Amino acid sequence: MIQFPFDNRYLALGERFFDKTAPTPVAAPELIVFNASLAAQLGLAGDDITASAASIFSGNQVPQGAAPLAMAYAGHQFGHFVPQLGDGRALLLGEVTAADGTRRDIHLKGSGRTAFSRNGDGRSALGPVLREYLLSEAMHRLGVPTTSALAAVASGEQVARERLLPGGVITRVASSFVRVGTFQYFSARDDVAAIEALADYMLEKSYPDLRAADKPYVALLRAVVQRQAELIARWMQIGFIHGVMNTDNMAISGETIDYGPCAFMDSYHPDQVFSSIDRNGRYAYSNQPPIGLWNLSRFAETLLPLLDDNAEAAVKCAYEVLETYPAHYEVHWLAGMRDKCGLSAVDETHDDADKALIEDLLALMAGNHADFTLTFYHLSQLQDQPSARDNELRALFDDPTQIDDWLKRWRRRLLTERRPEHERLRAMQAVNPVYIPRNHQIEAAIRAAEDEGDYTVFHALHEVLQTPFTRQPGKDPYMQAPKPEEIIEHTFCGT
Ligand code: AMP
Ligand code: MG
Repeated sequence: MIQFPFDNRYLALGERFFDKTAPTPVAAPELIVFNASLAAQLGLAGDDITASAASIFSGNQVPQGAAPLAMAYAGHQFGHFVPQLGDGRALLLGEVTAADGTRRDIHLKGSGRTAFSRNGDGRSALGPVLREYLLSEAMHRLGVPTTSALAAVASGEQVARERLLPGGVITRVASSFVRVGTFQYFSARDDVAAIEALADYMLEKSYPDLRAADKPYVALLRAVVQRQAELIARWMQIGFIHGVMNTDNMAISGETIDYGPCAFMDSYHPDQVFSSIDRNGRYAYSNQPPIGLWNLSRFAETLLPLLDDNAEAAVKCAYEVLETYPAHYEVHWLAGMRDKCGLSAVDETHDDADKALIEDLLALMAGNHADFTLTFYHLSQLQDQPSARDNELRALFDDPTQIDDWLKRWRRRLLTERRPEHERLRAMQAVNPVYIPRNHQIEAAIRAAEDEGDYTVFHALHEVLQTPFTRQPGKDPYMQAPKPEEIIEHTFCGT
């Protein structure tokens, strides 16, 4: 019998927090990919896990000590409050203590119906499983806080969407799957005791240092606000668009969660939207920072009873914390964008000028359909002096001459740098990826898997994305922007 080092503390929160349900077995599970190094970090034993991976990570075999449950949560979906959502096709298998002492949750998605399934089938199509696996692993390798993918399994069953599609199950791991919507679920029921228990749980789980704070719940709110600001700044710096930033898809731990119609931008535009259901662009690229604050405001509302006994003082306290978000975001965004542009010398005189320099570059990119990732990649190859290399960057712009003045300004700014050119180049290349999971590449991997049962395209892409900052011999096709006929305009949730 397979044993994981489970210690399922979510159970102790009590029955109104979840519905205990076992996964529904699938017909013929086939392991597609297993993240053995993550498994080792989690303290999951080696050989016998790998041998049983297909049956464990499809839900067909529940490891000893697991306590599978569907978590209850509510959420604002595109601004509209839904008092009950919950894990309709996912299950918390259990919590383990990883080798480094941190506690991690193991979650199955696509594992069958639960009390929260409403009209859904509790299943996931294989395409979205592969998509989440590739994107979350790429994000992890890019250094962005995220749920991690542990395994993907083909179920051997079909799921009915617009047409019949092969089914799949993904296993993902996070510090916690508690969402803003989890707090909202109890807030909507005026269950202050539950909110307090949940806040204590999250403090222990994802913010243990704050338990000793003078006011732990205020400290929790502040820390969640800061982590979220930092997370969204990271998204913006790599051209990531989450696509469904509903409050039920925002984790209190500050990890990127629920990869649905998310996508990386190819050519840069601040209004870019991929999700087919985001008709008004609520979750467009440039709306992500303000939406983050909107969601955090909903979180703060749920905490009001814990912030102060006096209702007015509680609201004042919440405002004071929320008001730190824009500046915190801005500092992290600017620091990361400076790193991308090789600007390390920092003092007050640089602040505004650097911001203007960066914003002007983005405006030129938007006006000239320049590829986001390639622009920064090629910028991070440029010497202090102009050279033939400049042309590779210039060629990304519809009108290459439009970037010339900007390059002159950038090089003038480099003169104030105190580090040598080779150090600047190394630092830029460490933050500007060569490879991102491009939509057309993901689509090719999904098509081969769904249409031909061929996972080699998936594995090859997955391999390249393991080292996104290193140009790999023979892998240039993976760094290229899509040809016009390859551009993917819309992505789908696949629910
Ligand atoms: P998502 O768009 O994946 O964040 O899901 C939003 C809500 O719909 C969550 O409560 C999900 O559990 C539920 N849901 C999505 N797809 C399904 C499905 N196939 N079966 C049951 N519930 C689902
Ligand atoms: Mg979700």
